[in-house]
Order: sequence, then structure tokens, then C-alpha cells
Amino acid sequence: MSILPKLRELITHKSQISVAEYMELCNTHYYATRDPFGTQGDFTTAPEISQIFGELIGAWLAQTWHQLGSPKAVMCEAGGGRGTLMKDVLRATRNLPQFHDAIRVVMVETSPVLEALQRKALGASSEERGSNRLSSLAPRTLAPIEWHPNLNNLPSLPLLLVANEFLDALPIEQEVHTKEGWQQRHILMRDNTLSFSPVGDRIRESSPACLAVMKQICDHIKRFGGAALFIDYGYNTAAEGDTLQALKNHKFHNPLETPGEADLTAHVNFGALQQAAIAMKLHGYYTTQGEFLRRLGAELRATALCKNTNHESRATILQGLERLVSPEQMGELFKVLCVTSLMDDVAGF
Ligand code: SAH
Repeated sequence: MSILPKLRELITHKSQISVAEYMELCNTHYYATRDPFGTQGDFTTAPEISQIFGELIGAWLAQTWHQLGSPKAVMCEAGGGRGTLMKDVLRATRNLPQFHDAIRVVMVETSPVLEALQRKALGASSEERGSNRLSSLAPRTLAPIEWHPNLNNLPSLPLLLVANEFLDALPIEQEVHTKEGWQQRHILMRDNTLSFSPVGDRIRESSPACLAVMKQICDHIKRFGGAALFIDYGYNTAAEGDTLQALKNHKFHNPLETPGEADLTAHVNFGALQQAAIAMKLHGYYTTQGEFLRRLGAELRATALCKNTNHESRATILQGLERLVSPEQMGELFKVLCVTSLMDDVAGF
């Protein structure tokens, strides 16, 4: 079902909507109605490219939990996609029984389609809501995994949070420079065609939604301790520019065409998010994905995986590694930000 009628009604009623309203409406529909990942879908993410990604994040989470003093904690993934990252995290840490005993896993997800895929990946079918133990991934005493629609009701425990390509899906606002100065960019509809208004070449962006999520997570970490890891494409110092983009079938697409049927994203302003955490007296660490994964031992892990396997699998493993860390591929475009209550060195930075 298309969201065009809903958009038409909304824009007729309000005469125009902001970029953030548009992005939120489109992405809610987009994620709620499909599995967008992989060669059959619209885009591919790091955990879908190589198991090395989730395994190293698992090692990072366990190490950080140890640095926090091995407390009872909540391990949360925001926007878990198909559940691949959490599956690899739990598999990579299953030989650390104290870690699995201490954590409650919370998946924060708005899409019913992706929640169902996550339940399947993590060993619980959607019919078995009460009995979602990870028998194969975690033979020990992991508590049943919980699904939440937002971050509002996280358990009152120290937090270990990971979010990969989550922030880029949150709505941004844009402003356009006009003769009258900076004005909010809106979306209009005429004869079923969407357009931006006002027009202009100079655009600047902000994301109140990203800042609100960051503040909520920092509030939690201030109260209970913890660390949150965000991985996404983005930049560190704000500059003017239009980063709103749509992806469909692995190709760039006009964001105003086929609303709700293409993945809408914007680059994440990591500098602003790091500043927000520092303003709340937390620590912020920032680096590129390539550096982060290398420091956590991506190459060593690839070498270990290449042993005892055939030529074809070796090539797949090495290609996956290359895509994740090489500066020409995801290594420099993607950034990693950790916000934490920890004073000492955080692994990977
Ligand atoms: N982390 C996954 C998926 C990234 S796509 C991976 O790396 O493969 C973005 C994910 O965030 C999807 O699971 C989408 O449904 C979810 N999402 C988007 N907006 C959200 C919101 N406001 N709250 C919670 N989840 C959201």
C-alpha cells in the first residue's frame, strides 16, 4: 500500500510539511513493510557483509562490561535489522558464561517485520513470545530477550548499547539560504508531485531526533553507568550541505520519488552528538570504522577464519574484511562514536 494518499491528506491539511516530518513518515512505512537488506533488497550493512563485524563488537561489549566492573547490565541494540549483529555478538561471547549470566538483552525496534526476523534469528519464533531462549546461541543462562518499541523503559541497570546504521534513519531538518536568510525547508505537493520549498543551493541540516536519542541514552548512562557505541556514516564538523539521500535497489534515488518505498538517510553529525555527551559530563571517543575494527583485531580474526577453509570461502572472508576496513570502501566513510561513563581507555579508540 502506498503512503501517497496519506501524504496528500497531510500536506493538503497543513499546506506543507517539514523534511523531518516527511522522513519520519516515509521511513516508518518503509521499514514496517519489508526486509530491505541484502542483494535482493535496497542496501547492505556491515553485519550482513561479514561475521567479523559482529564478533568484534561482541568482544568490545564484553571487554567494556568487564571495565565497568562486571555488573548486572542491560545490553541493548537499537535498530537491529535482521538480528544478524546481535546473533554474532551472542555467539562470539557464548564462552563467557559470567557475561551471559549478567546481561539482559533488549532489542529496540519499531518495525514489526524486522522484529519478527530478529526473533527468528535469535532463536524465538514470533508465536513463542514467552519462550525466546537462545538455546543454540547461548546454552547457558541468558535471560529471555526483550523487544521494546523505543528507549523509554530500559531496565534500571548499567547500559551497553550498540547501534549500527540506526541514527542515519532518524529524521533531519534542513534549512535553505534565501534572500531573507535561513529558512526551514519544506515539502509541497502539486498534482501528485512532491517538491522542496523554498529552493536554494545552500542547505544546512540538524537532527533534533538524533540529539533526543543521544540525550536519553546519556541520561541513562549518567544514572546507571555504561557505554554506547554508534556506527554510521557521518562527519565530525558541521558544514553546509545536503546529505538527504534515498537508496533503492542499491542505487541512489530521488528522495521525493516513490515516498516510503526507498530508504531515506542523512549523514550523522557526530561532532554535535559528541558535544552533547560531553556537555552532560560523559566521555566521548570518536574514530573511523576502519581504525576501530583494525584496533580490535579485524585482520587477525580474518586470518583465523581463513585457516581450515577452502579457496572460495577465503576469498569471501578477505573481501568482507576489505569492504569493512578499507579507506576506499566503508573504512573512512563510516565513523564510530562511543559515549561512556568510563574514565579509562576504551578499546578500539
Ligand atoms: N543495525 C542493522 C539495521 C540498520 S537499518 C544493520 O546494521 O543491519 C535501521 C534499523 O533501525 C532498522 O531495523 C529499522 O527498522 C530501525 N529503526 C528505524 N527507525 C527507528 C526508530 N525510530 N526506533 C527504533 N528502530 C528504528
